[in-house]
Amino acid sequence: MRTVDLRSDTVTSPTPEMRKAMAEAETGDDVFGEDPTVRRLEEKAAELTGKENALFVASGTMANLVCQLTHCGRGDEMILGDQSHIFYYEQGGSSALAGVHPRTVPNLPDGRIPIESIELAIRPKDIHFPKTRLIVLENTHNRCSGSPIPPDYMEKAGTLAQKHGVSVHIDGARIFNAAAALEVDVKKLTGPADSVSFCLSKGLAAPVGSLVCGSDSFIEGAVRQRKILGGGMRQTGVIAAAGLVALTEMVGRLADDHANCRRLAEGFANIPGLSVNLDLVKTNILFFDPIKENLPADVLVNALADNGVRMLALGPKTIRAVTHYHIQPDDIDYVLNVMNRLLSK
Ligand SMILES: *Cc1c(COP(=O)(O)O)cnc(C)c1O
Repeated sequence: MRTVDLRSDTVTSPTPEMRKAMAEAETGDDVFGEDPTVRRLEEKAAELTGKENALFVASGTMANLVCQLTHCGRGDEMILGDQSHIFYYEQGGSSALAGVHPRTVPNLPDGRIPIESIELAIRPKDIHFPKTRLIVLENTHNRCSGSPIPPDYMEKAGTLAQKHGVSVHIDGARIFNAAAALEVDVKKLTGPADSVSFCLSKGLAAPVGSLVCGSDSFIEGAVRQRKILGGGMRQTGVIAAAGLVALTEMVGRLADDHANCRRLAEGFANIPGLSVNLDLVKTNILFFDPIKENLPADVLVNALADNGVRMLALGPKTIRAVTHYHIQPDDIDYVLNVMNRLLSK
């Protein structure tokens, strides 16, 4: 049976070119700072995001945790969206491991947090309060329909942070999707931030790894935090090599994933029994709701899986589908056929 795996863009496998680069990668001991391939990847990431330096880490979760540990001390407060990945999906590592106090503020459906509510959440100086140290923004916003957050918003948030002497971190797991959807240079999005993390192993299809980008002094601190988390790795050039291919070859094709996602969304919007907010479909993530009676999300997801189509039920009435490198337009046709059939029963 044909399978179309839309659970996540993390299911992407390395391309033949990545595998070749991995086999041929020059390596050294990266804890001694001697892996030339890792260094090249870090320099490339810094250049693309417009930061002084960068650090290769094992995962997006580790990248975010390293950044929290580098920005904040124990008991410091971090302001972040209530739908943010850091708050939702990282096992509470902020408090469990970093000792950071998370202050959530509601996200808008498009992933932004109203600037006024961030400002209201910043603590005045008072012995009763924790110190606000960090504002975290997510771009694209995973749980908010993969929304790309535009440069003018990022700038306003940066200006606010400066006014109050706090730092800004961008969880940019899919920041290149945001830049592609908004048709801007990624630097326009990262400029206002003190640090940004992004994933190589999602839409960019590398097998492993994320980057943390920031100033030289920030990265100097981040290297220590990575080490204490057990993330100092040795001949990492073999995986960094795939990351370099990801950054040079795979960024330019993300718009294809967005076009496929859009077509899937428009197809679903025409199927009675499914509810889709087309205004929110701008990148490679589609959220939709089955609204037919007696068809909860998990039941529909199982029926889809029986037909080779894999998606994730993220709530009793919500399903997520994500397009990526392995999904072609004819896969979208296949999914629309299957869905039409299941809902006309
Ligand atoms: C996937 C993701 C992460 C975490 O990445 P992992 O590599 O899975 O740990 C962080 N933030 C966002 C927004 C993500 O989508």
